[in-house]
Amino acid sequence: MFNENTIQKFQSLETPFYYYNLDLLQKTIEAIKQANKKNYHIHYALKANANPKILNLIKEAGFGADCVSGNEVKRAVEIGFKSSDIVFAGVGKSDKEINFALDNSIFCFNVESIHELQVLNELAKNKNVKANIALRINPNVDAHTHKYITTGLEENKFGINPYEFEQVFEEIKKSAHLNFIGLHFHIGSQIQDLSAFKNLCLRVNEINKHFIQQGFFPQHLNLGGGLGVNYTEPDTHAIVDFESYFNVFRDFLETQTEQHIHFELGRCIVAQCGSLISRVLYIKKGINTNFAILDAGMTELLRPALYQAFHKIENLSNPNGKTEKYDVVGPICESSDCFGKALMLPEMQRGNLIAIRSAGAYGEVMSSRYNLRDEVVAVF
Ligand SMILES: *Cc1c(COP(=O)(O)O)cnc(C)c1O
Repeated sequence: MFNENTIQKFQSLETPFYYYNLDLLQKTIEAIKQANKKNYHIHYALKANANPKILNLIKEAGFGADCVSGNEVKRAVEIGFKSSDIVFAGVGKSDKEINFALDNSIFCFNVESIHELQVLNELAKNKNVKANIALRINPNVDAHTHKYITTGLEENKFGINPYEFEQVFEEIKKSAHLNFIGLHFHIGSQIQDLSAFKNLCLRVNEINKHFIQQGFFPQHLNLGGGLGVNYTEPDTHAIVDFESYFNVFRDFLETQTEQHIHFELGRCIVAQCGSLISRVLYIKKGINTNFAILDAGMTELLRPALYQAFHKIENLSNPNGKTEKYDVVGPICESSDCFGKALMLPEMQRGNLIAIRSAGAYGEVMSSRYNLRDEVVAVF
């Protein structure tokens, strides 16, 4: 994936840093457009990566924005996403965030509870405006992914449960400042088994029918995001099979002709275009393994520490060396600051350049200043 010139460039730079391949990002965007034969509305989930250069490319592609905080709405507006293409989800939107989104006349609030309906109606009334709302429904569909990134089960905090529908209908009827426009679903992230999306479609069909029968016509059905990427083979699977993904919805979603379909893709757009580039600081001989201590840690890439996520690690300085066993760890004072255990990798030496792959999604955005670390930089 990295050619000689790129590695040459890395040699001259201080580590750690994120490297983004915008060419791959562009190709990924093109692949989505190619596969999107049914004119689905695509919103990019800013929380996966909110780097302005990346956002600009995605905006230029004509995608909308999916935000989960007031500052993400602000970033989307600043970058130039049309407010009529911005959706705003989240279980805990503050009054300040809601007011900001109302002032910017965003396309839709994805409302996650009955209490939020009441608060949103009040805040919209204060401004004498009407807020477009989609109800985020908890469809109780298992995404078969890590428990920390599963969101569509009854035990999760997200969305409105079907047993609350009667009350929701009553609430919407008496809320003069809410305009019901649709239904929203998002069952989890890093979903690789497409049957989870088929199950989602079947649930959406039932719920959609129920709403129509009750006189609440969902003009918009938003199926969320969650499509997974291949973390073990980032080079041979650089671009997700978007066609198969969209085909599941084409084949199993039953919609009325007037209904618009929306998606909120995050990870599958940006994950493979980013790598965290680091250097080996020290090698420490252990009893059963060696520790390779890098100058990057959980402060730059939290996913392994947070959800035991796997990222492929490559030694760019010695790609064909004889392999040895390593625990690859960071410098942070936490035992969870570990990128991988007992990995067979080409021999590592102090100063070797290391690439931690598939780090374009939920990488830079989750970085922190813990231990008063320097803010991580991005290179293109
Ligand atoms: C995180 C999130 C997404 C994007 O998820 P990916 O797995 O990155 O595609 C979409 N919609 C909502 C509501 C989210 O919270």
